[in-house]
Amino acid sequence: MSVADSAVATQTADTSRIPVMVPWLGEEEAEAAAAAVRSGWVAQGPRVAEFEQAFAARVGAAYGVAVSSGTTALHLGLVVLGVGPGDDVVVPSLSFIATANVARYVGANPVFADIDPVTGNLTPETIEAALTPNTRAVILVHQGGVPAELEPIRELCRARSVALLEDAACAAGARYRGRPVGVGAQVAAWSFHPRKLLTTGEGGMATTDDAEWAARMRRLREHGMNVSAADRHASSKPVLEAYLETGFNYRMTDIQAAVGLVQLGKLAATVAERRELAARYQRELAGVPGLSTVADPGYGETNYQSFWVRLADDFPVTRDELLARLADAGISARRGIMAAHLEPAYLDAPAPPLPATEALSLNSLILPVFHGMTVAQQDRVLSVLKAAARG
Ligand SMILES: *Cc1c(COP(=O)(O)O)cnc(C)c1O
Repeated sequence: MSVADSAVATQTADTSRIPVMVPWLGEEEAEAAAAAVRSGWVAQGPRVAEFEQAFAARVGAAYGVAVSSGTTALHLGLVVLGVGPGDDVVVPSLSFIATANVARYVGANPVFADIDPVTGNLTPETIEAALTPNTRAVILVHQGGVPAELEPIRELCRARSVALLEDAACAAGARYRGRPVGVGAQVAAWSFHPRKLLTTGEGGMATTDDAEWAARMRRLREHGMNVSAADRHASSKPVLEAYLETGFNYRMTDIQAAVGLVQLGKLAATVAERRELAARYQRELAGVPGLSTVADPGYGETNYQSFWVRLADDFPVTRDELLARLADAGISARRGIMAAHLEPAYLDAPAPPLPATEALSLNSLILPVFHGMTVAQQDRVLSVLKAAARG
């Protein structure tokens, strides 16, 4: 029995706890990790190279640079896009805190921008309102897997000579205008944390079509060395490396990449299953007053990495009360996506009024969606929501 199968088996009894998310891991991943260990090559090596090629191909990019996390992928992205001390970087406040943190890593200032209340993503108008004479880059998040409306934002950034870094941490398998998110990105950053759809434990990747940026990110993840440890090892002649600039140790291990290759093979099935579960939530909640749900934008398809419901102002119970009722019923839900500008670390950061961000963050919650979730489990979640809507 696989890990996922046993997790499902223990959850089918009607009183068992329903998780908000479980990674879909099984024997195949365990075997792949074991094979990497048995090979004797556990640090960044051939499996990382294979994973980079396969993942980049899947998201429509020429190059993939595997790193230690989505956060470190974002960091390297900002470096190669030329963002540095004194620059302003437009970021959505409605995002995991790492999106804003990486601007500070390079000495730049995050400037928060508001979002579209339906998609949860930046728009040309909200970006425009946050631009300053010092804006050097925009970090565009495909929040919760909902693709952002890319074309007009790429156009705006081109016109203003502002770099565009895509935070695709949540967006593996999401689609924009019929093609995978990742296609055409200057740099896109991906996360393989277990909360995301494709996991390597920890891990991330930067993808790009630019050969020089890819080469520089490879160097930067490995202490700034001009030759990778794997290439040096493979060479029959002594190779004397040089350190071209101050780099980092942001490497992924071959054990992680082995798991990632198996996970990548399951991505299409993962997305299909999540979309089915989401469609059932949407059908069942369509007639419930005071509740609206995340949905595909007209121009693309989300992978439903996060399935959020939003409470109208006149919903009979508060968001936190609803979270408490779900918890009492043995259901793990989560508050909506955080708003970084409300956190202590960012109280001193410049921010225009962010009404759509605050409303979505404070009035939404994320419902359970995971591999093997049963109709009975979904019905338990739905019955709590429907009872709350009745008052
Ligand atoms: C998860 C996430 C990150 C960070 O990814 P890690 O792999 O955990 O470092 C960054 N941005 C967004 C939008 C995320 O959801």
